[in-house]
Amino acid sequence: MSGSDLAELGRLRELLVRLADGLETFLAFDEPDRSVIDRARWSAPLSGPVPETGVGVDAVLDELLTWVVPNGLRTPHPGFSGYILSRPTTAGIVAGTAATVAGHVRDFLSSFNHLEDVGLAWLAGVCGLRDHSGVFSGGGSTANLIALGAARQAAFEAIGVDPAAEGLHAGPRVSVYGSSEVHHTIHRAAAVLGLGRSAFVPVATDRCGRVDPDAVRDRIRADRAAGVLPVAIVAVAGTTSTGYIDPILALADVAAEEGVWLHVDGAYGLLARCLPELAELLDGVEQANSAIVDPHKWLGTPVGCGATYVRDGDLLERAFTQEPAAYLATYGTEEMTSQFDHLGRGWFDRSLELHAPSRGSWVWAVLREIGLEGVRARLRRHIAYASSLAEMVDTSPHLYVSVPPSLSICCFRHVAGDAHTTELLRRLRADTSYVPSTARIDGQLAIRACFVNPATTIADVEGLAEAASSIAAALAHE
Ligand SMILES: *Cc1c(COP(=O)(O)O)cnc(C)c1O
Repeated sequence: MSGSDLAELGRLRELLVRLADGLETFLAFDEPDRSVIDRARWSAPLSGPVPETGVGVDAVLDELLTWVVPNGLRTPHPGFSGYILSRPTTAGIVAGTAATVAGHVRDFLSSFNHLEDVGLAWLAGVCGLRDHSGVFSGGGSTANLIALGAARQAAFEAIGVDPAAEGLHAGPRVSVYGSSEVHHTIHRAAAVLGLGRSAFVPVATDRCGRVDPDAVRDRIRADRAAGVLPVAIVAVAGTTSTGYIDPILALADVAAEEGVWLHVDGAYGLLARCLPELAELLDGVEQANSAIVDPHKWLGTPVGCGATYVRDGDLLERAFTQEPAAYLATYGTEEMTSQFDHLGRGWFDRSLELHAPSRGSWVWAVLREIGLEGVRARLRRHIAYASSLAEMVDTSPHLYVSVPPSLSICCFRHVAGDAHTTELLRRLRADTSYVPSTARIDGQLAIRACFVNPATTIADVEGLAEAASSIAAALAHE
């Protein structure tokens, strides 16, 4: 045995250049999507038992280029407007690759540990959060869990219990308030944190899904009188279905009056705080005890990037500390000379992860590339697309807009009802490159386009409107 590893450790330039060629071909989308129809062809060579003998990195790259990349997920296509799935821009891809190699965890005293701070501070600046400190995590799901973990810590400390240390077994019944439109990751966060899914209290909303602050106040008072401990009020800054924004400022007043934590779930919409014309809609965010935003949505970083911000960073550490661990002790001298004399900012004590990628470098790279000016231009373009789509859809006698667009989301339906709307969506997917998703509004199905993809142009919006109205007309005449 030579003692050398079987894995290739070099040849980065050569292999990355070949990969990049394949990726650019994929992103050109010259071929129609056959990945589902052909899936038996490509899944067979990618399956089988774990190999006893490896094939080497060149063969791995060949298989990536032949079977994997061409059948990859087509969310970066300019006609894709489903869910809230963006397309990572080149700066984030490049920074992510750099971090994988030269900053493979976010800890210790390296440039990457520093960029974690810079990325968080810049993102806070974009979102108008001045007095908050943050931490990155894998996305909105985890970011909401971390924020509600801090809320739980605050609520229980106020009654003399340290929930992180002691658990909740002796605690009172608890509740978390928000609209029926809150993202389901809020319910799951309540489950994981031991509050229970049933702790979530859905409060009355208006037609657009915005919660009624007076109803929240009334419910909190009634619950308190019944011995329930209110843990948090959740305001959504941009609901996933329609992009509507809860009345954050009014909820901040209720939270302050009632002494309850205010959390703003801005996974999608909080970025819009950088637009002066929308500032009023997002007023009150700066008063929130916690807020989250997902750079992997509108900001276009690679997926796996959410950020939680809290006013009281110490609370986050009490809620999520790992406690001192022998394997994490560093024996640095007063005068630090090695990266490994110190762990740097201890992100692992404020979230759920120890080993974690340097997502700060992704955020830093995308903001460094285009600046606030570029972010504002993208958001304004996408918001205008949603309005334009609504206007175009309105000209079809077979379609109508379900609720006026908010942020970059436009929802519309077939006038003949759910069955036609479902078939319209199916034909869009099957026969065109325009791929929206769905929402349910007033109990009825709607087709929902959400513009967050930086590659989308007004021609794609027109294309979607034209395709939708011609399919809708055909359906009406069948
Ligand atoms: C997308 C989204 C989430 C979940 O975020 P992930 O990054 O998908 O985990 C939570 N809340 C809202 C409002 C969202 O739009």
